[in-house]
Amino acid sequence: MSVLLIAEHNNKELRPFTLNAITAASQIDVDLHVLLIGNNCEDVAKSLSEMKIIKKVLHAEAAYYENYLAENFAPVIVKIAENYSHIVSSANTFGKNLMPRIAALLDTSQVSDIIKVISSDTFLRPIYAGNAFATVKSTDTKKCITIRPTSFEPCETSGGGSAPIEKVEAAEEFTSSKFIKREEVKSDRPELGTARVVISGGRGMQSGDNFKLINAIADKLNAAIGASRAAVDAGYISNEHQVGQTGKVVVPDLYIAVGISGAIQHLAGMKESKIIVAINKDGEAPIFSVADYGLEADLFEALPQFLEELNKLNTIQK
Ligand code: FAD
Repeated sequence: MSVLLIAEHNNKELRPFTLNAITAASQIDVDLHVLLIGNNCEDVAKSLSEMKIIKKVLHAEAAYYENYLAENFAPVIVKIAENYSHIVSSANTFGKNLMPRIAALLDTSQVSDIIKVISSDTFLRPIYAGNAFATVKSTDTKKCITIRPTSFEPCETSGGGSAPIEKVEAAEEFTSSKFIKREEVKSDRPELGTARVVISGGRGMQSGDNFKLINAIADKLNAAIGASRAAVDAGYISNEHQVGQTGKVVVPDLYIAVGISGAIQHLAGMKESKIIVAINKDGEAPIFSVADYGLEADLFEALPQFLEELNKLNTIQK
């Protein structure tokens, strides 16, 4: 039996995490098929078919697939599921929204947010907000799996493959829910989930206005901006910046936590970062236990000094 990966895309290009999901799916079984559901997305189908790692591309087209709705996607996936042993997607908002619906319709239990494929039926996944790891063996004949994208490298996209593209009949439109509109925040900064450098502010920032200190450093480091839930709840910054158990999981090369205490729910979203720097005026703050470099200082003094040093560096480089 083959593995079916559900592609996330915008009808023009794949979303980056699909590439990580492809890597994970190919570790379950090399007979990897990718299902693309969309409208006028032939270019995406072609780019998938050129990836050597993919054995077949399945393509379902309909005007009502233009905008992603789990309610519309699930029936077409369930219709072809009998040919597959595993159905896989990434554990971001796309997969978290879609996969439980598929698992329920197939009456199978979902294995969520895996970080390692041990064998085709056994997977490693974090539990208790990343404080423990569970090895889960699934005995279901059909397995619905979501993968943590940051735990798998993106697959090679350089081409050279020639997987066949097979048309799949669209399922009937689901009319009980309807797509109304999409609101996206456009930013010149790197995307939080894939940025190499992230600087995050917490309740210690004291106001939204003070995030300008973080913004200035992010500009210098070409960093994405993150935040703790306390900062989001206080209205300092919008919730797409939240890092943690109920926010985004990030694994940048450098994570700078400013005025963040280091609650386990925040650590769940950033503790796998390669280098962690913490700035906090409380030397006992738990964030220091995961930090590679800790600065016990008032952020309102430390951040301007940090910026000044970065400006000097910039001048030297120029
Ligand atoms: P605080 O814990 O209040 O810490 C503020 C820190 O700033 C302190 O350590 C203080 O010493 C420091 N500080 C203050 N002033 C200064 C200064 N001038 N200079 C330097 N340092 C200063 N939280 C998340 O972040 N992400 C999640 O996804 C998340 N999900 C959750 C899910 C659940 C189910 C629950 C129950 C909670 C969740 N939380 C999450 C909340 C979490 O438990 C914490 O409440 C939150 O992370 C605290 O945010 P904080 O560190 O910014 O605030």
